[in-house]
Amino acid sequence: MIPGGRLVVLGKQGAGKGTQCVRLSHHYIVPHISTGDMLRASVKAKTTLGLEARRYMDAGELIPDEIVLKMVGERLDQDDTRTRGFVLDGFPRTVAQAQGLEELLAPTELDLAIDLEVPTELVLTRLASRRVCEDCGTIYSTTQRPSVDWICDICGGEVVQREDDTEEAIRRRLDLYETETAPLIEWYSTDGKLVQIPGVGHPDEVFDRIVSEIESRRQAGGFGPPMRGEASPS
Ligand code: ADP
Ligand code: ZN
Repeated sequence: MIPGGRLVVLGKQGAGKGTQCVRLSHHYIVPHISTGDMLRASVKAKTTLGLEARRYMDAGELIPDEIVLKMVGERLDQDDTRTRGFVLDGFPRTVAQAQGLEELLAPTELDLAIDLEVPTELVLTRLASRRVCEDCGTIYSTTQRPSVDWICDICGGEVVQREDDTEEAIRRRLDLYETETAPLIEWYSTDGKLVQIPGVGHPDEVFDRIVSEIESRRQAGGFGPPMRGEASPS
């Protein structure tokens, strides 16, 4: 039986979190919970949350912690995350969110926070050429296009540049990463839950690095008790 896990992936905008989280989600059969994708879906559906979130997002600002925590709390309350775990993408992004996550998970705990390290010069280039499927969130770039025009290979949706991938909003998001999110690296490191992985290289290589870290941690007993429906290690 494939073991699950309770994972958080940290890293700057453009570090490759989205790509690696999709792969982790398939590999460990855990839901991929991306707060950015959830918020973009709300914006598209014009829900109350979406209407409120939009102005923050377009400016590259963070959505207030209480709103994000409520949204994540509702998602973590569902059965799939309780049985298998999850891979969180783009959350937590502030120390207050990390504290909130601890409360949401109690009495269980996070197993591991994975920090994808990529130099800022490289993420700037990646973000400028980034294109995403509006429907399923699959990530492409101007150099790795879908096979037919700008139609998603996976779902047939339209592949576009994100509205907040403007130079100004990108700069703002990277500044907020330094002030608000980077302190989480210290936070998880103090907790003994942090692994830092070089995010440079082919996505397959990066993925192999992540999985081997996860597995060595698991073997060393660094993961919490097995979840419901999961065989105990013999
Ligand atoms: P990026 O990592 O490129 O900033 P995301 O898709 O993760 O992209 O997030 C897009 C936007 O959604 C953010 O700029 C922010 O406005 C909002 N957002 C996503 N996750 C969070 C979060 N955990 N806390 C606050 N705002 C968030
Ligand atoms: Zn798609």
